[in-house]
Order: sequence, then structure tokens, then C-alpha cells
Amino acid sequence: MDLGLQDKVIIVTGGAKGIGEAISRLIAEEGGVAVIAGRNAADNEKTANAIIAAGGKAFAISSELGKVDDCKKVIDATVEKYGKIDGLVNNAGANDGVGLENGSPEGFMKSLQNNLSHYYNLAHYALPYLKTTKGNIVNIGSKVASTGQGNTSGYAASKGAINALTREWAVELLPYSIRVNTVIPAEVWTPLYETWINSLPNPQEKLASITAKIPFEKRMTTSEEIANTTVFLLSGRSGHTTGQILYVDGGYTHLDRSIS
Ligand code: NAP
Repeated sequence: MDLGLQDKVIIVTGGAKGIGEAISRLIAEEGGVAVIAGRNAADNEKTANAIIAAGGKAFAISSELGKVDDCKKVIDATVEKYGKIDGLVNNAGANDGVGLENGSPEGFMKSLQNNLSHYYNLAHYALPYLKTTKGNIVNIGSKVASTGQGNTSGYAASKGAINALTREWAVELLPYSIRVNTVIPAEVWTPLYETWINSLPNPQEKLASITAKIPFEKRMTTSEEIANTTVFLLSGRSGHTTGQILYVDGGYTHLDRSIS
């Protein structure tokens, strides 16, 4: 199936590592331009260079996305280089463990800034360009918005808001034929996941107990599986799909707990 992404310019926040890296690579494999926006310049360059070495197109923009000015910089730099934006993948985020009991009001606000505000800021600044191209937006959320996790109020609030904004933006952007969807991962082995699991007591035991509870094939989802759904949603092949929250999680969030 040709996804029709040839020369489409798509911004991927956190596109250098983990799920974002898989999305950047797949966009490039499909002939698109992966614009990698993230805080670590060396990570961004490494992934962009690997894509270019494999014959793809990529561009790296160093940006601390919790800062409004950096969000604007990402949009301005993309338009300056390519003259257009065809898609935005809001992906950057981190489960930063700001709990109700163990956190603070300041920590909570900072978590919202690092996990939520840039989803809005980038969509806001990208909108004039997405209107021109009839581009679209894919957000990466988390099952934590539906299930909770404990000790992570800022992250849970951000991911819940992202689900709400998916519906809200899908409605607001109907007149412009801009689609907005969200992909929900649950358990995906990435640098973020590795850091999180290693922060727990007995990480190997915990990992085995989580994996055993994933209904489909008792395995983690791969970053590539998240990327496949994300890139399909970016493409015109999903041209009548909007306002949807899709769980790519091997049934972890919704299937019957009693299945063995
Ligand atoms: P990852 O391995 O940590 O990669 C995320 C990338 O985004 C990193 O390069 C990180 O930079 C960058 N980043 C994060 N916050 C940023 C910010 N405020 N400004 C600039 N760059 C930022 O994470 P991942 O596991 O691929 O997660 C990607 C998305 O999937 C996140 O939204 C996460 O909530 C969601 N998710 C993941 C899982 C999972 O199982 N992995 C499950 C549910 C949801 P640094 O490394 O320098 O911080």
C-alpha cells in the first residue's frame, strides 16, 4: 500500500529516541521528511544522520519543548527550510513521577509544561501551515490516562488532557479538513521505559509480571508497531478517521483480566 507520504514534511517531537525514533524512521522510509524536534541536539543529529545515511530525508531541530519560544522555533525553522508542514506528531513526554503525596504544586505545573503544554503550543503555531496543506495531527498518549498508575499526577493529567484535546481539536479543525487522532501505547521497551522500570525495586521481576499480563502474545509492544499505526493515521489512507483514540497495546488496557 502506498501511503502517499512522498515529500510530506512531518514534525516528530522527541523524534530521536524510542517511539519517536521509530516514527521518524518510518516517515522517512515512506519518502517523507522527518523533522526531529527534541531537547538533546546530539541525539537529534544521530537519528537524523542515520536516516539520511539510509537514503531518507530528515532535519534536526534542538528544542526544549517546555519552553513556548522553543515550540515556535520548531515551527519557524521547519517552514523556513521546507516552506510547509504536512503533519505534526506530538510525542515527547516522560513519566516523571510527580505524585499527589510526594509531589508539589510547582512540580505538578512543571510536569504539565513538559508533557502537555507543548502539544498545544506546537499545534497552535503549526495550524496556519496545516490549514494550507490540509495536514493532520497525531498525538501520542498513554494508557495511564485511563488506568492511573499511582504517584504520577502530572503525567496522568497531561495524558488525560491529550485525549480530551484530541476530540476538541478534531471538532475545531473540521472546517479545515485537518484530522486529529491519538495513539495510546501501554508497555513499549524504550529508553524512557528502561529508566522507569529500573527506578522500581526488583525491576526484572516487575518487568516479567507486567509482560505476563499483556493479553496478546504476552509481550511488550514494539516501537515499530506504534509507528505503523501513527504513520497510517498521518497518511491519506486514513482520510476519514478523526477524533479517534487508538490503543496499540496488545489488549493490555481493555481486555478481560481473567484471561490467562
Ligand atoms: P523516550 O524513550 O524517553 O523518548 C522521548 C524523547 O523525547 C527523548 O529524546 C526525550 O529527550 C525527548 N523529550 C521528552 N520530553 C521532552 C521535552 N519536554 N522537550 C524536548 N524533548 C523532550 O520516550 P518513549 O518511551 O519513546 O515515549 C514517547 C511517548 O510515548 C511519550 O509521550 C510517552 O508518554 C508515551 N508512552 C510511552 C510508553 C512506553 O511504554 N514507552 C507507554 C505509554 C506512553 P531526553 O531523553 O533527552 O529526555
